[in-house]
Amino acid sequence: MRRAPVIDPFRPAEVRRLVREFGSPLLILDCERVRAQYRKLRRALPGVDLYYALKPLPHPAMVRTIIGEGGFLDLATTGETQLVQRLGVDPGRCIHTHPIKRPEDIANALRFGVRTFVADNPDELLKFSRLTDKVELLLRVSFRGKGAVCDLSRKFGCDPQDLLPLARRAADAGLTVRGLSFHAGSQTPDATMHVEAVRACAALITAARREKLGSFDTLDIGGGFPIDYAQPVRHIGRFCAPLRAALAKLPRRIRVIAEPGRYLAGPAMIGVASVMGRARREGHWWYYLDDGLYGSYSGQIFDHARYPVEPLRDSPRRFSSVLAGPTCDSIDVIAENIMLPLLRNGDLLVGRAMGAYTWACATEFNFFPKATVVAVNLEPGDPGRVVS
Ligand SMILES: *Cc1c(COP(=O)(O)O)cnc(C)c1O
Repeated sequence: MRRAPVIDPFRPAEVRRLVREFGSPLLILDCERVRAQYRKLRRALPGVDLYYALKPLPHPAMVRTIIGEGGFLDLATTGETQLVQRLGVDPGRCIHTHPIKRPEDIANALRFGVRTFVADNPDELLKFSRLTDKVELLLRVSFRGKGAVCDLSRKFGCDPQDLLPLARRAADAGLTVRGLSFHAGSQTPDATMHVEAVRACAALITAARREKLGSFDTLDIGGGFPIDYAQPVRHIGRFCAPLRAALAKLPRRIRVIAEPGRYLAGPAMIGVASVMGRARREGHWWYYLDDGLYGSYSGQIFDHARYPVEPLRDSPRRFSSVLAGPTCDSIDVIAENIMLPLLRNGDLLVGRAMGAYTWACATEFNFFPKATVVAVNLEPGDPGRVVS
């Protein structure tokens, strides 16, 4: 099947057309931009297999696009397993990386055909004690992060000094350990944490191999790769340069994999909201949009993100304005003191870099439904149903 001609769905005329067809609020996912992100990260990390972590945007078009690029998938829950199973993905391209799993998460992933799981403590190892011939493990190590916007080192991962004792327990239980994983935190400003973690993991792998505790031929360097929001970040090639240097010094015969989420999904989606009412209050224009902090902008709370928001129709005269969400709650304010042209009811506002941790964590508080997602530039054969 041939791919249809590529369009740019972020162009104002296309945005208007899509909103006419699918309504507002709308999230527009451009699979061509997902491909571009995937290829940029591949170039920045040559030889590293990329497992898209579904969590930031668990959408069928994302999954199909990553698979279409030859990529892999990182699952964490039964729901994610069922989504990729429904899409007919080869389970050999999937790993399951939640360090703490419900028994049914393990059972459902195994039934689908996933073999690789992550554990970070002795109790979790016990969950696999009767599955020694069916699973391979990565042991997750934690390195205390400082720079990341979202630090994950406290909640998951074993201390580096506890890794060898954990690997010994796994070996004693007859479990196959393939290697180590870590997650340096999300939206990290530079690769310092990744580099330190790779160095520490290299030492642990050497020590574990010396004790013959498993093959230790895999290193999973997690996600965390940053994207531009209101604050621009380092270009991915430059961001990864020290990481490439650290990976080049790894012991021989190690397959390196990564679990990017935000980097692949974030820049590939814009959010479109409409002005549903306006009022002048205390010298500012207040615009009430049909999407807000409880909806697609929930990442401003959960993910500490700041999405660049602009009106679709521009004008040189600008006024101090407030953008509020639709719910009756006072915290539901997207941006204050921003300079905007005078807007009318029905005018459209576009939020950029809204692919990751937006729709995925939106609520339907006050019965405002989640934004509709429309995916454009799909893989050949993707029926592209609209998901809302
Ligand atoms: C959330 C998560 C990811 C993706 O992280 P990003 O910062 O979005 O790249 C990868 N791996 C695991 C285990 C995660 O929990």
